[in-house]
Amino acid sequence: MRETLVLNASFEPLATVSLRRAVVLVLQGKAVVERARPGLRVRGAAVEVPVPQVIRLCRYVRVPFRRRAPWSRRGVLVRDRHRCAYCGRRATTVDHVVPRSRGGEDSWLNTVAACAEDNHRKADRTPEQAGMRMLVLPFEPSPGDAMVSAVGLSGRELFPTPPLPDTGGKPPGPRPR
Ligand SMILES: [Zn+2]
Repeated sequence: MRETLVLNASFEPLATVSLRRAVVLVLQGKAVVERARPGLRVRGAAVEVPVPQVIRLCRYVRVPFRRRAPWSRRGVLVRDRHRCAYCGRRATTVDHVVPRSRGGEDSWLNTVAACAEDNHRKADRTPEQAGMRMLVLPFEPSPGDAMVSAVGLSGRELFPTPPLPDTGGKPPGPRPR
């Protein structure tokens, strides 16, 4: 999917959103196009707009004092784009990497999206104990994600896709921290 960079009214980068969301923000008058893809236009119901690469919010969004996004199960699924950390299929549950029974916390770095099957198979074990390899490592969403939520974006657009590691053709291993 094409992604559009969102700048604050002060030109500070906040996050990326889908092209569709970017166009909606422009049509609603909440953002202006700062840079567009040459020669391309998106057709709305009654208007045509250039395909935005960068948009800027018309209203300044204040950086929240608390710069860390609060943890939630839904947030973990959104962050991982509903993809199972163990097999890559659709995930509907949240797995604690270090199980809660072993002192694992409800935190961004200890939880990943998992399919029900893998979550059940892993049970009260760490991935090593269960012999299960993780395709991705959990990460903490950036403060910019929380700021974009302040202008009413939601769902998968809150969290940009983490960059994929360069594996040189081998299957992806855990991301370096
Ligand atoms: Zn799975």
